[in-house]
Amino acid sequence: MELIKKSGITRNRRKPHGPAKNISSAIKKNLSPRMLKILRLCGALADQKGLKAYAVGGFARDILLNVSSFDVDIVLERECLVFAKALADKLGGSLVVYKRFGTATVVMDWCPKAKRGPVNRKERFKIDIATARVESYEHPAALPKVVFSSIKQDLHRRDFTINAMAVSLNKGSFGRLIDFFNGQRDLRQKKVRVLHDLSFIEDPTRIFRAVRFEQRYNFKIEPHTEELIKTAVRLDMFGRTQKQRLRNELILILSEPEPVKALTRMHELHELRFIHPRLRLTKGMLRLFGDIGECCRWYESSFLKKRPIDRWLIFFFAMVDGLDLAQVKALCEKFVFTKGDEKRIISCKGKADKVIRALKAKRELAPSRIYRHLEPLAYEVILFILAKAKSERVRMRVSLFLAKYNGVKPSISGKDLKGLGIAPGPRYGKILDRVLYEKLDGRLLNKQDEMRLARQLSGKA
Ligand code: ATP
Repeated sequence: MELIKKSGITRNRRKPHGPAKNISSAIKKNLSPRMLKILRLCGALADQKGLKAYAVGGFARDILLNVSSFDVDIVLERECLVFAKALADKLGGSLVVYKRFGTATVVMDWCPKAKRGPVNRKERFKIDIATARVESYEHPAALPKVVFSSIKQDLHRRDFTINAMAVSLNKGSFGRLIDFFNGQRDLRQKKVRVLHDLSFIEDPTRIFRAVRFEQRYNFKIEPHTEELIKTAVRLDMFGRTQKQRLRNELILILSEPEPVKALTRMHELHELRFIHPRLRLTKGMLRLFGDIGECCRWYESSFLKKRPIDRWLIFFFAMVDGLDLAQVKALCEKFVFTKGDEKRIISCKGKADKVIRALKAKRELAPSRIYRHLEPLAYEVILFILAKAKSERVRMRVSLFLAKYNGVKPSISGKDLKGLGIAPGPRYGKILDRVLYEKLDGRLLNKQDEMRLARQLSGKA
């Protein structure tokens, strides 16, 4: 704790207090009937088992802000695993238990945002269930030690007053708001405020969270909290934090609808240096962010059903655009990006500029050539190219690829090739690719044309 003493900051001894208010009508207004039914079921199950159940964290905040809440975190004062099992059985959801943390998640196979149709794995409705806990930190920025506790203590370990409210789910008190730390007042005054002065020292990832909530809701980090952020940055608390946790928070920032605002604010608070000392938020980068936002909106409104994209990754490509390949590789290693993300980040660094040059060079370029340049790339890289390319010609070619060429398929298949007596093997891929390229270039008009070419290529003509 030497470091904490040095920083000159002390624990805030603000006295918690909490007038009871019932927000069940706001819950009804902001939730779908299906989600409301689930919350009532949680209350009924808790009653049956003699437990107290609360919806906590962002749930109360979003309901009070009249924002539809799709995330539900439930806290019980004890026995959360028994409760979670009963809830999964009742809802027919699958249960994932995290033994190490004593928490569980019930996962449903539907998505609260989509009315019907297939559900994207990542968007499936999840209910996180935990037992109320206190956390203590052996040293600054360490992972916390967990001990079970009361709801009041559980709320006290949270990041900001606006996230430290709970809503009772039990039948007799459904909708009762628990607010020990003036979360409602800070929501009204649009303030992001920590619960105690050591908050950012204990967990520096909260600095990112402060910026994220501030920018998302157009709030303001209140002056004392901002001072505490500056102290933590000065003490290089990021350097002491698990890099995966910082990476996760960075991904959340880049996943916000308008990440530029949050990144600008992070730059202001000198928080970008920790990613890479050479990282600067230049005017060019800000312009690129704006263009990426525009391209994503265009893509999502026209193509989302085709292939979902990781929007955050495209903004990340832009952030590291000024670094060289070796620096980007080192960064991926340092922040332990998943293999899939790392592959796309490195591919973008190595290929985006080359592809832009190739798509720009010639006045005439056959559709099959455009296709061959873009098809091997991840959609995130393609959208980055679309945003980064200044040339109208390149933009047109990328748009044509997305809107037209990438949907073209040969009418013939491996089955047809087998019918021609061609032995199955890698040749099939080569023949079908060639058929596709000729088709893209308008030289094959129907299935007969394709069969003719396949016969020629296989020597069976
Ligand atoms: P979002 O709308 O972005 O999902 P959220 O508030 O639901 O926001 P989560 O990351 O899902 O955010 O966290 C749920 C709750 O857990 C938070 O509202 C907060 O109370 C608590 N929490 C999350 N991260 C921290 C942290 N680093 N320190 C303290 N409390 C945290």
